[in-house]
Amino acid sequence: MKIAVVGGGISGISIAALLKKHTDYDVVLIEKSKNIGGKASSIKENGYLIEKGPNGFLDNKLEIKQLIEEFGFENNVIESNDASRRRFIYSNAKLYELPSNPTKLLLGDFFSTKAKLRIFKEPFIKPNFEDETLEHFVIRRLGKEMLDKVIGPMACGVYAGNPKNMSMDATFKRIKEIERQYGSLIKGLVKLMKQKKATASSTAGSFSAKLMSFKDGVGSFIEHLSKGINTIHDEVLSLEKSNNRYTLILKNETICADSVIFAIPSYALSSIIKNIDEEFSEKLREIGYAPLNVVSLGFDKKDMPNVTNSFGYLFNLNDIEDTIGVLFDSSIFNFRADKDKLLVRLMIGGAMKQESAKKKNIIEIAIKELQRSAKIYQPFNFSHIEKHQKAIPQYGLNHKQILKEKDDFEANHKGIFITGNAFNGVSLNDCVKSSYEVLFKIK
Ligand SMILES: Cc1cc2nc3c(=O)[nH]c(=O)nc-3n(C[C@H](O)[C@H](O)[C@H](O)COP(=O)(O)OP(=O)(O)OC[C@H]3O[C@@H](n4cnc5c(N)ncnc54)[C@H](O)[C@@H]3O)c2cc1C
Repeated sequence: MKIAVVGGGISGISIAALLKKHTDYDVVLIEKSKNIGGKASSIKENGYLIEKGPNGFLDNKLEIKQLIEEFGFENNVIESNDASRRRFIYSNAKLYELPSNPTKLLLGDFFSTKAKLRIFKEPFIKPNFEDETLEHFVIRRLGKEMLDKVIGPMACGVYAGNPKNMSMDATFKRIKEIERQYGSLIKGLVKLMKQKKATASSTAGSFSAKLMSFKDGVGSFIEHLSKGINTIHDEVLSLEKSNNRYTLILKNETICADSVIFAIPSYALSSIIKNIDEEFSEKLREIGYAPLNVVSLGFDKKDMPNVTNSFGYLFNLNDIEDTIGVLFDSSIFNFRADKDKLLVRLMIGGAMKQESAKKKNIIEIAIKELQRSAKIYQPFNFSHIEKHQKAIPQYGLNHKQILKEKDDFEANHKGIFITGNAFNGVSLNDCVKSSYEVLFKIK
């Protein structure tokens, strides 16, 4: 049996590698770009290790750890440094260090008295069992200041998202479940913490997830996985179906397969399947993508402000100009820069600042931001810009319906499987989890 995997990002490469390892199928991977990795790609320049996209993964999910072990890459895994536990929010012209204990955050001077009173009202607010946007949810349960200063910035930092449009069920499912189950977030979290503490003390398990990566960058793992996979570098333009076999029309050739796994962005899939299912093709167009510019800047470490010895910082939604997050990559992980150098990454744009991602003077914007918020005035000695016009898919209130139509499409076209970050989570962990799910369906 021949299986074609379309798309060579983490989603496509991981499923292709798993199929090759666990089945006898003839697997071919088709990737339109001359490089593999998609968003997950690392380069080394001038002594800096630049991540064009993701810089790591959390160790609280099983699948990616399993994948690393299955493919013998454990020795290349690195843990984030202790400095990366320090995180800041830029708010009202000041950087606030977030305490590790949420109670301290609530009792300190980060929130106004009005906001604190509003947060303490949360256990008395009636649950809403329906899906809703992140903005609606947070304002309803915790108030606007919590949205602007904590949850909104996190949504920007993780999803480059806009809280006005993000579906709770599709993006923050667990939090919505806590509301549904316990009637209140505070009550639910207190109960869960107690349960976790009991388990943690009996199993000596760890409370919080740790950020991990690879010594030579996320891209090194993708390259490792891709070894030995039969790869064609060409773009798939369309798909034809006859007698339960599929023909993929590429720019330069055609490929016949018994099964096709799509691991590409939803807009790309939409064009390919248009002649097979116009309705689903249209539905896929509803998934929006946030644009993002990733600017990496290298500096001499000497005399840098204290904040640079941390993970980095996010912005109060009211204080965002063009940048939505600043990461001190060389403080988070070793092997990102020489010992006397600092590597900073700025995320410019996102769903809330789409216009910012289109601006031309990106380096100037980055420098001004570092001066304004981090008080970094030193000259940079290295720069790299990575422009992602469609960086991260955004799951809106229609996402549940899109997932249903995706399932229907797969059921109507036996042998077709759809995976990738447009559907069941954007993190590397989620992408790998989806690949294992596809493997179990096919085996
Ligand atoms: C700036 C940034 C930072 C991030 N940081 C993190 C992080 O720290 N941790 C984390 O867990 N996640 C992070 N993410 C999210 C995560 O990196 C992505 O969700 C994930 O890498 C997506 O993988 P994918 O394989 O599903 O899609 P992609 O990486 O987009 O891969 C899709 C591939 O399909 C190919 N393709 C498209 N059309 C066709 C076609 N017609 N024919 C053939 N090939 C085609 C593309 O060229 C591409 O290689 C980040 C994302 C970005 C953009």
